[in-house]
Parts: sequence; structure tokens; C-alpha cells
Amino acid sequence: MILHETYNLSNGMKVPKLGLGTWMIDDKDVAQTVVEAGKAGYRHVDTAQAYENERGVGEGIRDSGVDRADWFITSKVAAEIKSYEEAVASIDQSLETLGVDSIDLMLIHCPQPWNEFGGENRYFEENRAVWRALEEAYEAGKLRAIGVSNFQKEDLDNILSVCKVKPVVNQIQVNIGHTPMELIQYTHEQGILVEAYSPIAHGDLLENEQVAGIADKYGVSVAQLSIRYDLQLGLLPLPKTVTPKHMKHNTDVDFTISEEDMDYLKNIKR
Ligand code: NAP
Repeated sequence: MILHETYNLSNGMKVPKLGLGTWMIDDKDVAQTVVEAGKAGYRHVDTAQAYENERGVGEGIRDSGVDRADWFITSKVAAEIKSYEEAVASIDQSLETLGVDSIDLMLIHCPQPWNEFGGENRYFEENRAVWRALEEAYEAGKLRAIGVSNFQKEDLDNILSVCKVKPVVNQIQVNIGHTPMELIQYTHEQGILVEAYSPIAHGDLLENEQVAGIADKYGVSVAQLSIRYDLQLGLLPLPKTVTPKHMKHNTDVDFTISEEDMDYLKNIKR
């Protein structure tokens, strides 16, 4: 049962193999979503400063009836924050907004501000400064683990060459039709777990007939096939849903996709 399984992080912590994404869930609605996820057995929730719903996520955790210590909460320092001082302040703000003493995992949301995503300036020096803020908060016990998101190889190398504390996670987009195998392999070789965001491609995969054909073969839905695909690559999928029925459904992924079908899915172009 996937909900009871964990990955080991390089700092010795364990993280539940499936997490609930909360991007685009309004702050006023997300507490109820987290409560429902808790009832369905989820213990891992992914938020970010940029989602503007950390307050509601914290409320949901408190209302869930599940011990705070049994939840794994991830948040992210906003992509636009690129100085040490701003990063320090934003981490303290996240703790306050979530209403928790510590955050299980805090990531740099993106190596570049979103409006320069994929551009030439990789903000190497600035990301090292933000990383220093994360390391200090980690050493102070405010953050239990630290990592990055949307980092390419060169962005990872920039941190790995200077860090005192290694990133435990790189959260990147991985789904059927978008599988950056080289980056996944390189990240795993560094002992860094890859978390797969947008495992259902924001819902776009649900419309894909090629993927539906493979899902039918296993008697599962496209959502289940997409989640299982990431798990079989050794990744940690973070499907988002506000629908209690989907929450439960997305945890029912105890089947095996054949190697042949994995290769076929890896090579699907969307
Ligand atoms: P996603 O999880 O790929 O897809 C979500 C969509 O799929 C929603 O429309 C949802 O609708 C639908 N869905 C989920 N389960 C379903 C099911 N069983 N049957 C039918 N439809 C289903 O989308 P995402 O929000 O882009 O990505 C997931 C999470 O990854 C985010 O919420 C966020 O936490 C994280 N993320 C991180 C970054 C980053 O830069 N680090 C970027 C993007 C996303 P319903 O809600 O109606 O079920």
C-alpha cells in the first residue's frame, strides 16, 4: 500500500512516497482539502510561499486529527527571493503562516525568478546566498530537511560545490511525455531524491488517447497509470486533487507497468 511506503532522504529522514499537491487550491479551501487527504491516509502535503495557501495548509494539518509529527510538510522559498536576508525573513514568515515550529522540507522554488525561467542568467551567486539561509535554518532546527526545485545539472553543481548541507530533494516536472532522464539520473547519482511535480501534467494527460490505451490494458485510470509511472522511475509523485474520490483513487496504484510499456510511455511525445 503506497501510503505506508517511504523513501529515505540522504540526511536520514523518511518521506512518504506519495504527497498531495496544493498548487492552485485557494487558501480558504485548502484546509478542508488537507483534512480530506488526512482521512484518505495521506501524510505528506506540498505547498509553497507562492501558492499563498500556507495558512490554510497549516489549519488543515491542525484540524486533521492527525499528530503534526506524523505529517510531512514541504514548502518553498519563492523563486523571486534571491538574497540571503530576504530568504531568512521568508523562512520565518512561512513558519509563522503555517503555524508550525519546524517545516519538514523547504526548497528553493526555482533557480531563476519565474519571469526569467529558462533564461541565460542562472543566478548562481544569489542561489548560493539563499542556500546559506536554508542551511542556517536547518542547523537551527527550523527546517528538518532542505532541497531545491526546477534545478538543472548546472544549478545543482553550483550548490554542491559550496554547500555544507547537501540538498536532499530536487522537485522537477516529470510525467508521461515529459521525462528528463539525464537530469533524473544525474540527480539520483548525487544521492538526491527526485520528486515529480505535475504527475498528471495538470490534467492534460487525462485527454491523451495513447496513454488511455495503456491504462485500459492494466484496468486502471490514466491518473493511476501516471502516478505509477513516476513511482516505477523511483520518483516521488505529488498529484494535486481537491476531490476526495480522486484522492483515494490516486493511492490505489499497486500494479506493475511492464518494462516494455514503461519504454513506450517514456517516449510518448505530447
Ligand atoms: P497534476 O497533479 O499533474 O494534475 C492535477 C489535475 O488532475 C487537477 O485538475 C485534478 O483535478 C486532476 N486529477 C487528479 N487526480 C485525478 C483523478 N484521479 N481523476 C481525474 N482527475 C484527476 O497538477 P499540478 O497541480 O500541476 O501538479 C501537482 C503538484 O505539484 C502541485 O499541486 C504542486 O504541489 C506541485 N508543483 C510544483 C511545481 C514547482 O515548480 N515546484 C510546479 C507545479 C506543480 P481535481 O482537483 O478536480 O481532482
